[in-house]
Amino acid sequence: MHDDFQARAAALDDADPLAALRDRFALAEGLVYLDGNSLGALPRHVPDRVASAVKTEWGEHLITAWNRDGWVDLPVRTGERIAALIGAAPGTVRVTDSTSVNLFKVLSAALSLKGNRATVVSDSGNFPTDLYVAHGLERAHPGVVLKVVAPEAVAAAIDEGVDVLMLTEVDYRTGRRHDMAALTASAHERGALVIWDLAHSAGALAVDLEGVRVDFAVGCGYKFFNGGPGAPAFYYIAERHQAAVEPLLAGWFGHAAPFAFETAFRPAEGADRLRVGTPPVLSMVALDAALDIFDGLDMDAVQAKGRALTDFFIACVDPFAGELGLELATPRDPAARGSHVSLRHEQAYPVMQALIAAGVIGDMRAPDILRFGFAPLYVRFSDVLSAAGTLETILRQESWDRPEFHARKAVT
Ligand SMILES: *Cc1c(COP(=O)(O)O)cnc(C)c1O
Repeated sequence: MHDDFQARAAALDDADPLAALRDRFALAEGLVYLDGNSLGALPRHVPDRVASAVKTEWGEHLITAWNRDGWVDLPVRTGERIAALIGAAPGTVRVTDSTSVNLFKVLSAALSLKGNRATVVSDSGNFPTDLYVAHGLERAHPGVVLKVVAPEAVAAAIDEGVDVLMLTEVDYRTGRRHDMAALTASAHERGALVIWDLAHSAGALAVDLEGVRVDFAVGCGYKFFNGGPGAPAFYYIAERHQAAVEPLLAGWFGHAAPFAFETAFRPAEGADRLRVGTPPVLSMVALDAALDIFDGLDMDAVQAKGRALTDFFIACVDPFAGELGLELATPRDPAARGSHVSLRHEQAYPVMQALIAAGVIGDMRAPDILRFGFAPLYVRFSDVLSAAGTLETILRQESWDRPEFHARKAVT
């Protein structure tokens, strides 16, 4: 790589107001981790916190820990912390279940507000699980029709009639970011309810759910929030809808009085009514602790660093991309993308395996996408440069073309 890029990386790292946060993560020196959009890195303080939840709270306090150590409050406490990071009002966000299950709950809630007769619009760039959930509810409710259009065709589909708009803000493949404010406003003008999946937004982008007047949202705990593998997810219900929402997946933790053990379901006040069963305490403890790093952080600054990192990566790759068979799949306009950059390459799978073997961890999304996530809390501009340099070397030398890099693993 040119000296010019080295100097730029050094200057950008020196000027980075978030640079000190990297030390709070357990990342090996020399490893370039560009997959925090799929599994966030481990914050250094989390293992001790989880160990004490296991040894002291579970081991010694046993069932009294539900009250004594506040286990019972975790879905609410952690939800309030996340609310503050996504522009949500207090009392609107709860942490529980997986993103898929939370999407089922908020979509079924939105459908019930429409009498279970609705045209649901989503797009083909959405994450498959979101579409599977919507298809499932379409099968369950004869009055529901799911319309899946191309991402560029969403605005037009809203004009043609929509009752529920269900989208993911940042496309997991291309990184393209929808204009949440404009699409929400346009759907509202037609009387529709709007659900946003924030899986690739929360913890990386400045999201303003109240400002945009979103109706429902869901998002992920293990991506940019660094909650650990399989960390519980979150859902959001705008306050104006809470009293009217009838949970389809009703469970005792969504009951007004779980420990009254009543035979009939009475929904809890507010957002709690979409909770279902016992929270996964150990995973919640890890997520709650991981969120400490976000305390006092300005999400505008986090987003700005994500834009600078992705800009720099594109600039580093541009000089050799065309010549070496790479095509940028992510918008060049930083306002139109999230915090990852995707490059198409015919041999994406073995190229990514060769990158991982060389200490640059990204991932591959079928059929031809090399995906590089730039988590603003711990990725350095020097990492960006080193990833681009390694990619160039692997492509020039064709060192990806070895049998071991072609062997497919279960998780890509
Ligand atoms: C990562 C992701 C999910 C993951 O859902 P899980 O239920 O946690 O497996 C869902 N939706 C989108 C858009 C995602 O990016």
